[in-house]
Amino acid sequence: MAVQEIDAPHPGPGELLVRIRSSGVCHSDVHQWKGDWPGERALMESKGVRVLGHEGVGAVESVGPGVSRFSVGDRVGVPWMNYWCGGCEVCLTGYAQWCPHAEVTSVTVNGTFAELAKVSERAAVPIPAALSEEEAAPLMCAGVTAYGAVRRLATELRIPPGKIVAIVGAAGGLGHYAVQIAQALGYRVAGIDVGEDRVRFVRGLGVEWALDASEAKSAIRALGGADAAIVFTPKLSGYELAFKLTRLVGGVVAVGIPDPKEGALPITPAGLINHGTRIVPANVGVSYEFDDLFRLYGTGRVKGHLARRGTLSDLSAILQEMADAKYVARAVVTI
Ligand SMILES: [Zn+2]
Ligand SMILES: [Zn+2]
Repeated sequence: MAVQEIDAPHPGPGELLVRIRSSGVCHSDVHQWKGDWPGERALMESKGVRVLGHEGVGAVESVGPGVSRFSVGDRVGVPWMNYWCGGCEVCLTGYAQWCPHAEVTSVTVNGTFAELAKVSERAAVPIPAALSEEEAAPLMCAGVTAYGAVRRLATELRIPPGKIVAIVGAAGGLGHYAVQIAQALGYRVAGIDVGEDRVRFVRGLGVEWALDASEAKSAIRALGGADAAIVFTPKLSGYELAFKLTRLVGGVVAVGIPDPKEGALPITPAGLINHGTRIVPANVGVSYEFDDLFRLYGTGRVKGHLARRGTLSDLSAILQEMADAKYVARAVVTI
């Protein structure tokens, strides 16, 4: 990946042009960079998209016709969801992340590893004054996805606070937020990851149980099983573990996206039906979820952990380090 000069984008009707100051680096960037997702790669090529990054924060540089909620200079975030229609059945029933008319930052619209990026007024995220740009950037995808996944315990699975939630991949960019969010919302959290360093980091987040994946099954079964598991690990083995951890009629929230070459979910229809497992997908977030997340962040009970800072010219190195799982939590570049 190289730093190149390209034409500046122009904001169309209902769009903002944002001067990006900070952009988080997400595991999806690693997959896109490595070409793990052929469907997305084809979409990027057909749309002429050349810039990755979908956790951008900066200031509004200019606005297109019809924009009423934002002015030049406002601090905003440019998240993964760049636009959704707001009027189709999917949007109107509360699932705008799956809108068939959506535009996606870094897939159908150039991303935020750039000085300037476009976002629709609907999808732009107002950033509270108390949050620094560096803190806000990783919330644009990692934070809000973690929040949305935890929120689904209550909204989709009807699992109330007080229940045991296993978080698989708890030391990662998303997982470390999810652990804190789940605790702040009153769940009893078992944070699971691989290796001593990562488990120690998870323990430092104040979880009730910090477990290595190798010991998780026996430890959680001794508790009678988890009421739900949220899988952030982008490996099929993370899902295999989750299905073993959940008790009867437990929930599995799917977030991590393994390389499609790893195959399908490791559960048979018979296993699913006999165990009563309920599987719910979580996929980034939309406006009101950011508002909830910022309020929670403002209480001080959820904190981001930035393991790596850099600039645009460090991106190739950062992506490789993330591919090699060199550090816990999150990386951010300044632009
Ligand atoms: Zn992401
Ligand atoms: Zn829609």
